[in-house]
Amino acid sequence: MKALAVFPGRPETLHLAELAKPSVDDIPAGRGVLVRVLRVGVDGTDKEINAAEYGAAPPGYDFLVIGHEGFGQVEDVGPAVTELRPGDYVVATVRRPGTSVYDQIGTSDMTTDDVYFERGINLRHGYLTEYYVDDADYIVKVPQGLRDVGVLLEPMTVVEKGITQAYEIQRRLRVWRPRRAAVMGAGTIGLLAALVLRLRGLDVTVFGQRPGPYRNSDLLEQIGARYLSTKALTIAEGAQQHGPFDVIFEATGYSPIVFESMAALGKNGVLVLSSVTGGDRRVEVPADRVNLEFVLGNKVMVGTVNANREYFERGVEDMALAEANYPGWLAQLMTHPIEGLENFAELMRTLTTAKEAIKVYCQVAPLPGTRAGRPDVPETVGG
Ligand code: BGC
Ligand code: ZN
Repeated sequence: MKALAVFPGRPETLHLAELAKPSVDDIPAGRGVLVRVLRVGVDGTDKEINAAEYGAAPPGYDFLVIGHEGFGQVEDVGPAVTELRPGDYVVATVRRPGTSVYDQIGTSDMTTDDVYFERGINLRHGYLTEYYVDDADYIVKVPQGLRDVGVLLEPMTVVEKGITQAYEIQRRLRVWRPRRAAVMGAGTIGLLAALVLRLRGLDVTVFGQRPGPYRNSDLLEQIGARYLSTKALTIAEGAQQHGPFDVIFEATGYSPIVFESMAALGKNGVLVLSSVTGGDRRVEVPADRVNLEFVLGNKVMVGTVNANREYFERGVEDMALAEANYPGWLAQLMTHPIEGLENFAELMRTLTTAKEAIKVYCQVAPLPGTRAGRPDVPETVGG
């Protein structure tokens, strides 16, 4: 079967590779789930892997199959799988356990190991292929009613983890009634963070670079969030008008914003950092003042990466809640479908050049009952 792979360590090597079709017997103890891949989203991580900034091939291979934002349908299950059936829509988690105590309790997202295993990213093949098999423990069911937006689940889990951890941390306060939140960045993760914070009932201000209105600021308005362009006002001014912020979710990919966010955080507030910044940027910061306010205001800052099964399940719940509150909103994020694995060059080109894109994804196979080439159009209209 076909798969999209890179040669790690060599830039711009995305190509069609050949893999043997897996089977449920590849997984021990009868726990295998064979999934037919339908859609796979791509993001900055894929861009950076293709640029050879990181990524490693699994042992025994010189290539790495990329794609960690999967969505598919169960085709076969092993004899010890009771929680999934053929026909179910599913998304698989990304990281696989290492050796630390966190890995042993199902929280490999919190691993302290230096080497980590992530499907489509590091030492394990990903989902940009026709089929994959994995242990049922790592496969999460997506209800039929969410299948059109199911490919957004993995990015959603990044947000779910950060926000759940923030609430968990704030139990230190005995009573915490967050009212105002800020999100730094209005890309895919920023939009999803704004959504989840709105679903938790917060007043949400999103800071982005681009002057509004534009597609993303319109989307934010649809869920009752406020968009502010930092071209028009500073984060400090925005915080003065719409803060103090009890929670800030940072998702710009631009590390200097972290220090501005620290300064914009309210007393007892929590700042969640989610940008993976591989560069070597340096900035001058008002260190004494930022530190002083952090100390005197009992503030917290926390980093977050990856997500375990718990956050995938939360993500499913929040996507369902989003559909109930803001029907059709999630589907508007799916801006750039690319048809077929063989169009991998266009997939990468769109990912790197389409400025308007929110979610670029590969339509690996048509959703059942839809016409190939037109993922959103039913096979039979009016039946
Ligand atoms: C993925 C995470 C992963 C992280 C670091 C992100 O793009 O969504 O699951 O842990 O990259 O590799
Ligand atoms: Zn990702």
